[in-house]
Amino acid sequence: MPTLTRPDSCPDCTAPLDTDPTFPAWCPACEWNLLARPAAPSLLTPREQRREDRAGRRTAKREQAVRTRAELVYEQVASDTPAHRDPAVRLAAALAGLVHLTTLLLLAGSVALVVSGPWPLRVLGAVGLVVAVVLRPRLGRLTEDAAPVERADAPALYALADRVATAVGAAPVDVILLTDEFNAAFARIGVRNRGVLMIGLPLWAVLTPGQRVAVLAHEFGHDVNGDHRRGRWLGSALRALHEWYRLTLPERLTSAEDHFVLVLAGMVQRLVMRVLNGAVAVLLVALDRLTARSGQAAEYRADALSAKVAGTATARSMLETLLLGSTVESVLLRRRNRPVRARGTDHRAAAAELWTELAESVAAVPPVERERRLRLSARALGSVDHEHPPTHLRIRLVGQRPPVTEPLVALADEEAAAIEAELAPHGEKLARELLRS
Ligand SMILES: [Zn+2]
Ligand SMILES: [Zn+2]
Repeated sequence: MPTLTRPDSCPDCTAPLDTDPTFPAWCPACEWNLLARPAAPSLLTPREQRREDRAGRRTAKREQAVRTRAELVYEQVASDTPAHRDPAVRLAAALAGLVHLTTLLLLAGSVALVVSGPWPLRVLGAVGLVVAVVLRPRLGRLTEDAAPVERADAPALYALADRVATAVGAAPVDVILLTDEFNAAFARIGVRNRGVLMIGLPLWAVLTPGQRVAVLAHEFGHDVNGDHRRGRWLGSALRALHEWYRLTLPERLTSAEDHFVLVLAGMVQRLVMRVLNGAVAVLLVALDRLTARSGQAAEYRADALSAKVAGTATARSMLETLLLGSTVESVLLRRRNRPVRARGTDHRAAAAELWTELAESVAAVPPVERERRLRLSARALGSVDHEHPPTHLRIRLVGQRPPVTEPLVALADEEAAAIEAELAPHGEKLARELLRS
């Protein structure tokens, strides 16, 4: 049973504990109560329990494998093993070539059938054309739910972005999008290869001016860090493969035909789809494994650029803030649950209040709680996203490199205020959406 009264010293090692009741009690010395306690005894039958245990062991094993791989990449990057000319990446590029070639052959074959085949084959050619269009290399596009900020409307924001881009050696961004997420991102999209910077306002709001520079530098770092997965060749092949995977999911086929021949045809079709789908899945996993090392190394390089531009301490504190997403989430939840009457009708004031409260809540998270989140991130290594190496390893690596104490780009108060004013109308809209959902 979890203890209801809060101990002021550790039950395991008697070290004194922090007594702030806002956050869970845990012991930094021996990690007592770091992980959530196991749930109360379940009502499973012994057999169900065994199945549950087996599934648990499988998950643990998978997570351990992810952890080992991530730590291996970390060791290689930390010891400066050169990651370029990575043979795995060459193999991945060759596999991507195979994907593009298949699409090309499908297209060429379908066109030939449509143009010169006998009519039943022309129909087949037409179907092939449709499939080829679906599977075409995708260059990405702007998502509809993000709000673009035009250069003319936000000169101060773009001026800062341009300064940071120049400092990391990237081209100026073409468009900045504001999102409602607790993150930021950079991508090159479309035929014109436009650079798109996505800034999540909930993250932006809780960062200090220096940390904002650090996050911009990391994201622009993606434009120059040589991440093959984001390149056109591999990136478009990966997107196409995901489309293949979706198309060949056997569940997409409807059954329920009652004629024997149709049932048989359906079975054959499902079997073919299952084989195709399995092959695509294998290819996706292979590409993921082959590019994981270079991709994670590229992330670490983006962090190094972030430290170079914003200073080591600031880059580090920005990464630590990334671990506080749940604090932001709980503020949002609290505000969403407020009765409509209490919310008032002044949307501008409500938005300003929300962004301020987010910033204050994050600033108020005490060091011992930050440390807890950091250690939890180290424990939860198996469940990190594919794009980024685990945050605690990123923090560790930034700390291991020679410290940068002179930031290349500083954000002056008046500049920060000008940016804030430019973002206010967008922030108002996003706050309304965030609180409505
Ligand atoms: Zn203890
Ligand atoms: Zn990144």
